[in-house]
Amino acid sequence: MCGIVGYIGEEQAAPILLDGLSKLEYRGYDSAGIAVYNGTEIQMIKSMGRLKVLSELTHDGAKLPGTAGIGHTRWATHGAPSDVNAHPHFNKTGSIVVVHNGIIENYLKLRQKLIRRGYEFVSETDTEVVAHLLDYYYQGNPLEAIAKLMHRLEGSYAFGIIFQDHPGEIYAVRKDSPLIVGASSRGNLIASDVPAILKYTRSVYFIENEEIVRLSKESMTFYNIDEEEIEKQPVTIDWDINAAEKGGYEHFMLKEMYEQPKAVRDTFSPRIKDGDIVIEEMGLSDEDIKAVKKIYIVACGSAYHTGMTCKYVFEGLARIPVEVDLASEFRYRNPILEPGTLVIVVTQSGETADSLAALREAKKRDVPVLGIVNVVGSSIAREADHVMYTWAGPEIAVATTKAYSTQLIAQYLLAMKFARVRGEMPDEMFASMLEDMERLPEQIEMLLSNKEKIQRFANRYVAARDVFFIGRGIDYAISMEGSLKLKEISYIHSEAYAAGELKHGTISLIEEGTLVNAVVTQEELFKKTISNMVEVKSRGACVMAVTQVGNTEVEKAADYVIYIPKTNRYFTNSLAIIPLQLFAYYVSIGKGCDVDKPRNLAKSVTVE
Ligand code: GLU
Repeated sequence: MCGIVGYIGEEQAAPILLDGLSKLEYRGYDSAGIAVYNGTEIQMIKSMGRLKVLSELTHDGAKLPGTAGIGHTRWATHGAPSDVNAHPHFNKTGSIVVVHNGIIENYLKLRQKLIRRGYEFVSETDTEVVAHLLDYYYQGNPLEAIAKLMHRLEGSYAFGIIFQDHPGEIYAVRKDSPLIVGASSRGNLIASDVPAILKYTRSVYFIENEEIVRLSKESMTFYNIDEEEIEKQPVTIDWDINAAEKGGYEHFMLKEMYEQPKAVRDTFSPRIKDGDIVIEEMGLSDEDIKAVKKIYIVACGSAYHTGMTCKYVFEGLARIPVEVDLASEFRYRNPILEPGTLVIVVTQSGETADSLAALREAKKRDVPVLGIVNVVGSSIAREADHVMYTWAGPEIAVATTKAYSTQLIAQYLLAMKFARVRGEMPDEMFASMLEDMERLPEQIEMLLSNKEKIQRFANRYVAARDVFFIGRGIDYAISMEGSLKLKEISYIHSEAYAAGELKHGTISLIEEGTLVNAVVTQEELFKKTISNMVEVKSRGACVMAVTQVGNTEVEKAADYVIYIPKTNRYFTNSLAIIPLQLFAYYVSIGKGCDVDKPRNLAKSVTVE
């Protein structure tokens, strides 16, 4: 995780680095630092805490003159967040400086060897071995030292590196951690992600594994690990620059919740053509679709929850068996991948380390992989055999909302397409589902406009210790996401349970006043879930229910009811999740938590 940036050009580097880091802070925020070459030496300032602290220490960058520098915002993996463990890291003479995103897996062995050769370590990080190893290999040719370094390292990395005796250059390299390069008239930049450089350029080069780049103020040159020059083509990014700003909202999360109607529409409307579903970039033929015998949906976190929902959608509509797997499990559990299997990897960033490894595992076994990805040009978008983009735009808040919503839409479209091609869906049903889908954006808008009511209810639970979410079928999958939203941003323990499962153990945790959020959107299961609500209510629970308009029967078993508009039974997640997102958001605010940057988390999880 973490964000790295680098700049070399005509302008003062430090303010540009700080600005870039501010756009990457969602990736890691336990400490931050920058290093700038000032004409004679490399100066560094770094500190534990948020970027704000670094901005103050450097007087918004003014304290560090110089036009070439690198910066870092950290999500600690090795060594606690502290001033010394913060990046950048120097070699012993201060002539080589490095920022790192990722994990060096063989760092202990390297560290011991370096200590035996007289190197002294000041931090506990894995990264410091890189600075010393570069020092060990460096004989005046940065490229050669970097290539040698790469041969010794195991693990994942993106580095930004400056060598003091090559003052007009910045070097960067990556393996399994994201890295992009941007060319602008004001200078050249490196970064972990697009928002950091959008202000300067839309022309972006995606660095592939084991590629090295050398930037000067007017040129950029790419090399492979054999130090041979290679050609690369830029990709044009068409994201709206305002999308990465708060634009008057108090938090990114609130802004992104409000962007859901647009994100959802942007994801389905270009794909609906003449009453049919056309996913142009995907490249799966009708024959390919007909040949699918089994689907694995592989993902992490909230994306995994979209898979849990869409298992029901795929199985229900297309009658294809679906297994949903956590990427971190899939990659190590030797899954049975027979011919006819399709693996669908769902990821916002397209860089999630476990999802990328799962993709590679599937490809190694000759099973086609379809990536559902938000970031064009990201590793998973490039490595997957087929890709379908979600058009959510940049998402900055750590807790996902709009990317989650678009991942659902993408999978609904796929499931409908599969059902159509395989002759499983009558015309009228297809047409009516398309109509229901077209209505989703305005229904989401309507739910968002009720936010004050949910805020008042949420305020009563800021001191809650445990919260439960229950539901059946798709409602269980919605519950899982509602529960995750709450715990990740409010630090309240919460669990999602299949409603029928509660009585097999967990019901013993229900006490007087425990909040149970019941999701009740599947008509054929209304009565069953209501019985489970009554069970917890009669043991003292306070019950909040999210249900479809018209299902007034739930009022008998609930203390507080939120109604969502009617939609197709397979689409209810897209609506029911909105009040649950708002609930989590307002509990978090009520508790005074940092909604956009919850503790211990980072957005793009590029470590295992
Ligand atoms: N492994 C490095 C550290 O703990 C880098 C972590 C990151 O990617 O922020 O310092």
